[in-house]
Amino acid sequence: MKRRISFLLLLGLVLSLTACGHRHDVQTHQIFAMDTVMDFAAYGGDTQGFFTAATQEINRLEALLSRTREGSDIAHINAGGTVSVSVETAALLQEALDYAQVTGGSFDMTVAPLVNAWGIHTETPRVLTQADIDALLPLVGSEHVHIDGTTVQLDPDCAIDLGGIAKGYASMRVAQLFEVYQIEGGWVSLGGNVYTYGTKDGKAPWLVSIRDPQSPAGTAAMVGLSHKFAVTSGGYQRYFTAEDGTVYQHIIDPATGAPARSDLLSVTIISDNGTMADAYSTALYVMGAQGAADFWRSHRDAFDMVLITSDGKVLYTPGLETSLTWEEGGSYKASILT
Ligand code: AMP
Ligand code: MG
Repeated sequence: MKRRISFLLLLGLVLSLTACGHRHDVQTHQIFAMDTVMDFAAYGGDTQGFFTAATQEINRLEALLSRTREGSDIAHINAGGTVSVSVETAALLQEALDYAQVTGGSFDMTVAPLVNAWGIHTETPRVLTQADIDALLPLVGSEHVHIDGTTVQLDPDCAIDLGGIAKGYASMRVAQLFEVYQIEGGWVSLGGNVYTYGTKDGKAPWLVSIRDPQSPAGTAAMVGLSHKFAVTSGGYQRYFTAEDGTVYQHIIDPATGAPARSDLLSVTIISDNGTMADAYSTALYVMGAQGAADFWRSHRDAFDMVLITSDGKVLYTPGLETSLTWEEGGSYKASILT
């Protein structure tokens, strides 16, 4: 039988390890890119070389994949016509189509016309009428994307948005740089997309905090990870509150064309594949608790997950049994999925 150490005790342990473990001088670096704050930490090896290379790689990917960047592959595709893109963009688009298929369309990059119309990520969000939604929904669906090698074409008025997957892809690319710069241990956090490399101190895994969606400065649970990606999607990350008090969050349900009304507050996917983790975290938020649990049951070898539900539960998969900790008697009740 597994014993849960008290969350506070665990935190104390982390801090004391940091305090006495000066063998490892962890360097940190922060940038703003892809519309979010990104943090990097590393010790051992060429840490400054790693930070520089990671920043360059993220800037390169933003210039390639952002739909709001003039001259990006995605901006060209969204402008219409038959467009020649990089091999890398074509491969990522194909991968995004594969995730759309496997998630039954819950992840769908062609949701962009609705993302634009709701404008939840902009200064001027608005509440669409059912008629507005009905006019845009026919533009959503993988059948509107035509890829032939590196040639891409969308059906008229369609658009794509890689916001649900690009940071996960970037985290995969940056993960490879730890080895290039001979880093001993470190992590990156690209706006909710985390990768942990090596260990915290040569022994203990890195402790990744899963935010409390109802109080995002706080922590709902912690998971010890090494050489893993952990990606969180949640309605609390971006939203706007309408005049009548209704909260509209940023993940669109491609089936309804409206912000997903999920019974989940957040989904964290833990996996060896950061791109997949990013696509799945978005998709499983749309699916809701029951759909997410069912999806995990049929793909249980591909990932672990932590669901935080609106009725106060933390649900986690058996692969995290020895690595997940939470505050006993805190605001959430944790239980394992089977
Ligand atoms: P994430 O934070 O990874 O869950 O991605 C959310 C972002 O992806 C949104 O801000 C939109 O730009 C875009 N998006 C919204 N809904 C979807 C969806 N159902 N499938 C794919 N991308 C989406
Ligand atoms: Mg995502």
